Amino acid sequence: MSKRDYYDVLGVGKDASKDEIKKAYRKLARKYHPDVNKEPDAADNFKEAKEAYEVLGDDQKRAQYDQFGHAGPQNQGFGGGFGGAEDFGGFGDIFDMFFGGGRRRDPNAPRQGADLQYTMTLEFEEAIFGKETDIEIPKEETCDTCHGSGAKPGTKPKTCSHCNGSGQLNTEQNTPFGRVVNRRVCHHCNGTGKMIPEKCATCGGAGKVKKRKKIHINIPAGIDEGHQIRVSGQGEPGVNGGPPGDLYVVVQIKPHDFYEREGDHIFCEMPITFAQAALGDEVEIPTVHGKVMLKVPAGTQNGKTFRLKDKGAPNVRGYGKGDQHVKIVVVTPTNLTDRQKELLREFNDISGNQPTDEQHGTFFQRVKKAFKGD
Ligand SMILES: [Zn+2]
Ligand SMILES: [Zn+2]
Repeated sequence: MSKRDYYDVLGVGKDASKDEIKKAYRKLARKYHPDVNKEPDAADNFKEAKEAYEVLGDDQKRAQYDQFGHAGPQNQGFGGGFGGAEDFGGFGDIFDMFFGGGRRRDPNAPRQGADLQYTMTLEFEEAIFGKETDIEIPKEETCDTCHGSGAKPGTKPKTCSHCNGSGQLNTEQNTPFGRVVNRRVCHHCNGTGKMIPEKCATCGGAGKVKKRKKIHINIPAGIDEGHQIRVSGQGEPGVNGGPPGDLYVVVQIKPHDFYEREGDHIFCEMPITFAQAALGDEVEIPTVHGKVMLKVPAGTQNGKTFRLKDKGAPNVRGYGKGDQHVKIVVVTPTNLTDRQKELLREFNDISGNQPTDEQHGTFFQRVKKAFKGD
């Protein structure tokens, strides 16, 4: 049986771009993949398209094919053995190849190290004003003895004989739809594709060692609960020469006895006496920026809120400052002396037993209305 021309199989011209070849193959793969197409010829058509794509989709193999025809790539030990072992990945595998899924990852390709997360708890004021500090984190570092290979100095890791260095093993499964070949991580080499015959004594073959590392962190003023600071390159080391990951410092803020914070604004409650509320007063209010005198006008009601402009937290991105909002809490006096009681009774007598409409405005009118409906 003579082989069809690979360009004919994919239905593209000899001058087709890589992209056109990829598109043509994807179309055929969707059409003929044995997981979706149950026609008797589908599996053969699929294999044919796959083989054509594996050659034409690779610049080097395509050049050889253009020069030598079918003899070229096969002489390189490539593409032989078709019709023997069935090697369809799962249907999803094909699309992983195009859409960057991780399952077919080359175990020897450089990979970025994992990101690390560190939770830092700040005092209320530290978050407002920011601070510079050193943190110590337990962290994996590339082993100095073997420079990350995991092999004893003078020896080299070998290719894993179970997976031939691919880091993956195929397992066959019989399903109602026929035989399906699944790809799993090779458990002999944990997907690295390598075996280490003589392990490095320092790291025991891991190529990495745990160390405590001191890292300088600059916390910007105005940082808020849940914000993250990214420290570039301070995550775990990369694999196969890849770049390190990043460190993320997640901020938590301790609650404060007096202040509460919402974004850039600070809220507090200020207790004043019934006399201060009635007569008016100047009240000293603590703010994170120092004390401020607040003028409480005569007749201030319980719950009234005053705004102290720019006494909140600085905006973490530098857009000005929030305010401090002060809620007045009028405290009813307790444990009165006889003299205080006497004065209050006198006060009550000359005021009448109920607050007047003028004193309590619409609130008192609502109360009166409620009694009328009785
Ligand atoms: Zn080592
Ligand atoms: Zn293996």
